[in-house]
Amino acid sequence: MASPWIDVSVGLRTGMVSWPGDPPARISHAKDMERGDPCTVSLLEMGAHTGTHMDAPAHFVRGGIGIDGMPPEAAIGLARVIPIRDRKSIKADELRRHRIRRGERILFKTYNSDHCWDTDSFFEGFVYLSAKAAQYLAERQVRLVGVDYLSVGGFRADGLETHQALLKAGIWVIEGLNLKRVRPGRVQLVCLPLKIAGGDGAPARALVRPAGRPGRKKR
Ligand SMILES: [Zn+2]
Repeated sequence: MASPWIDVSVGLRTGMVSWPGDPPARISHAKDMERGDPCTVSLLEMGAHTGTHMDAPAHFVRGGIGIDGMPPEAAIGLARVIPIRDRKSIKADELRRHRIRRGERILFKTYNSDHCWDTDSFFEGFVYLSAKAAQYLAERQVRLVGVDYLSVGGFRADGLETHQALLKAGIWVIEGLNLKRVRPGRVQLVCLPLKIAGGDGAPARALVRPAGRPGRKKR
């Protein structure tokens, strides 16, 4: 029997952590049965890059493809969860050991998963993907990169460069994953961003479950 799915998305709610300068998340009730309305309807106010979300090329590339243009299989299928030891950033040197191949979907599990999601405060020192590592992944022609905090790039370094290296190479990006409950290794991934027309990004639900090694039977 297949392993159960693990929800690796973070919940959307008022007051949750957001990227400094981005619109904070606020979820209120436009209609509310408790106030005598016939039904309850939530009003969502948030930046498109809130919580678990995907980046489209249009986020950093002028004229780039929008999130509605993402082929579904970009974020559905086999993926690999790679554990990162570096406490500061994901570096090309550490990646080389993992023999990353063309077309892979790679999710990085860093210090962030265990330490960044238990608070509503933004954590400036999160582990990010260095620009050189992003360039390395672009050269390897991976299909998708997922990270476990709000940005692939750092807060003070490599924000622009890392995003551009990935998005210009046509690599789809998931940000804001919580991989706390996921062991490194092969997983099946399902990530579906909202279909915002021409969107630079969109909130997403992301799920993984352990996948057996190829050729080995999973009990
Ligand atoms: Zn981003």
